[in-house]
Amino acid sequence: MNPNDKSADGRARSPRRLVILGATGSIGKSTIDLIERNPESFSVVALAGGRDHAALARVARALKPEFVAIRDEAAYSALKQALEGTNIQVAAGREAVIEAAVRDADLVISAIVGAAGVEPTHAALEAGRDVALANKECLVCAGVPFMRTAERLGVRLLPMDSEHNAIFQALGGADPATIERMIITASGGPFRTWSKEAIEKATVAEALNHPNWSMGPKITIDSATMMNKGLELIEAHHLFGVPAHKLDVVVHPQSIVHGLVSFADGAVTAGMGAPDMRVPIAHCLGFPNRMTAPTPRLDLAAIGSLTFERPDYERFPALRLALDALAAGCGLPTVLNAANEIAVEAFLAGKIPFGGIARHVAGALEAATADGTAREPANVAEALGVDHIVRERSRAVLAA
Ligand code: NAD
Ligand code: MG
Repeated sequence: MNPNDKSADGRARSPRRLVILGATGSIGKSTIDLIERNPESFSVVALAGGRDHAALARVARALKPEFVAIRDEAAYSALKQALEGTNIQVAAGREAVIEAAVRDADLVISAIVGAAGVEPTHAALEAGRDVALANKECLVCAGVPFMRTAERLGVRLLPMDSEHNAIFQALGGADPATIERMIITASGGPFRTWSKEAIEKATVAEALNHPNWSMGPKITIDSATMMNKGLELIEAHHLFGVPAHKLDVVVHPQSIVHGLVSFADGAVTAGMGAPDMRVPIAHCLGFPNRMTAPTPRLDLAAIGSLTFERPDYERFPALRLALDALAAGCGLPTVLNAANEIAVEAFLAGKIPFGGIARHVAGALEAATADGTAREPANVAEALGVDHIVRERSRAVLAA
């Protein structure tokens, strides 16, 4: 689906009612920063977070939503106590996060990390809510069912990931048949210039030290392995309906050009901006209009030069695995996503070396292909079933 297919339709209410899933994370905080600077434009109706009850309570006291959900049931009483004396309803657990997702709103910000975001984000779509999607794992785990639901209900899935947001803007309502290539850029991460041997042994601190972006730990590790770019190609395939052979990655260390579209007549349009997630977030919050945001302005002369290089699949095998999973289709992206999440967790916990992440994912893809786990999920429930099997298996393999 080309999200540009839809014109302004009068659905916008003022102030715009928002739900923020993943309110205490990196994307959640950047979103809240923009909302707090434009208090007359937005009203936050519900918030959801994982387990940090103190941070969630702080955000809730500032934004005064109707409802706050925390995934971790053990955190319920602490959150409830912290919000005593307010009118805010508090609930905990899986169902509570889904309840937050389906509250009456104009836009749901999907910024939970990982496949944990799949169920609530899909519930929001099913309830007919427009969704601004930061959580790329939704489309990697269950891309076909997600796009089908959005299409069936005529709801918008606005790309909040910077590359996809840039492409969405660069498309400008073009006829999809005229697109020759769609290119997303990669910063190359902290190991862009490192040898294969050095990358294999990289420490957690080195992998968390991203040169351009400040993000949550999971996506930061995905950027270091370049799995993030692989997940983003799969995301682009579903969001824009472009086949795998038309998608490409180019390494661009300055992270100024985020995405490009090349057309049948040779014209190329690009989406650019300073590397600050508040730029694509503001675009989603304001869409179809533009809001004013206090983001850094781009000064190309001050930057001087923009450079581009091809990705190195030898040093970054995770990118190749994702491309192969995209090309093979079926349930392989679902398997890739689940195995990667568990491997990243194991690396962050010091249980496997950096090079072990891609090796583990490769093994999981082979195992799931051999035993039929990787068949095409017919719906979100089936995708989550595959996700669950692969997670359990990955945990067992990595604990052995
Ligand atoms: P983060 O780790 O900083 O935050 C994750 C949020 O999800 C937190 O609020 C956490 O409490 C919540 N959460 C975790 N597990 C949960 C669960 N089971 N139920 C409910 N809430 C849960 O992550 P982030 O960097 O903000 O990334 C969020 C998503 O956005 C990821 O999918 C990431 O790939 C995507 N994204 C992030 C950036 C970025 O700059 N951070 C850029 C593009 C895309
Ligand atoms: Mg991105």
